[in-house]
Amino acid sequence: MVANPEVPEGIDLGRPSIARAYDAVLGGKDNYDVDQEVADRLRETMPQIGELAWYNRAILGRGVRYLTGEAGIRQFLDLGAGLPTMENTHQVAQRVDPQARVVYVDIDPIVLAHGRALLATNGLTDVETADLRDSAAVLGAPRVRKLIDFTEPVAVMLVGMLHHLHDDEDPKGIVDAYMSAVPSGSYLFLTHFCDSGPEARELEKTFLTFLGTGRFRTHDEVAALFAGLEMVDPGLVYLPQWRPDRIVRDKLTIAERLMIGAIARKP
Ligand code: SAM
Repeated sequence: MVANPEVPEGIDLGRPSIARAYDAVLGGKDNYDVDQEVADRLRETMPQIGELAWYNRAILGRGVRYLTGEAGIRQFLDLGAGLPTMENTHQVAQRVDPQARVVYVDIDPIVLAHGRALLATNGLTDVETADLRDSAAVLGAPRVRKLIDFTEPVAVMLVGMLHHLHDDEDPKGIVDAYMSAVPSGSYLFLTHFCDSGPEARELEKTFLTFLGTGRFRTHDEVAALFAGLEMVDPGLVYLPQWRPDRIVRDKLTIAERLMIGAIARKP
């Protein structure tokens, strides 16, 4: 087989990846036919899937602005960071404070391949290729230890990520492992697919069939991931309802009800 110089090392073009399929749904260019096929199947089930992805990116921006501004956080561990797109965590945080530090962690080597170019001139941001389920490896990784001071508050971000873990992969245990490594005054910022009705369950089927992951958990199941932490207002809500920067309709659309999210503080 002749290697394709355009394809970064470690990328399997025969199977879709979560990072690339998400990029395809967002309308990005860092994906391949196999990922576009997944995006097409998702659009067939839920034509508004692109809107959902953008609601998730929008709350990411609002959340990081809150964390850097009101909460005074200067260090971000962005787990399952995804491919760089618009308004990435370091861009939002460093606009508030140019000294804010960000480590992106993702299992997919394509994130590093694309992240490096974006970060070439930014000494306060780095990308670590790792499996976040191995919290000890992530927390001990030299790139993480170089930028994150674990004696100071940290924002642990699991945005659009934990629904890609199955129940037997112990999502709550993983959250706890990271939250126990950070001091009091740290934050958890998490968004998650929500089982809000039959449409959500149809979409879950499509995710599980064509991507292999994508659990739509109930509000209570997602709330349980925050156990032991203090919710920041307005608590765990549909994404457009979390500290909106524009007026939100009372009656949300289906796409607006497919994910929930919250930020909570470690007491
Ligand atoms: N956080 C970004 C956002 O919300 O826009 C990207 C979310 S994307 C849907 C989920 C990301 O999690 C993908 O980039 C995928 O590669 C990554 N991911 C999935 N399983 C992972 C694991 N076990 N360890 C690290 N990253 C993982």
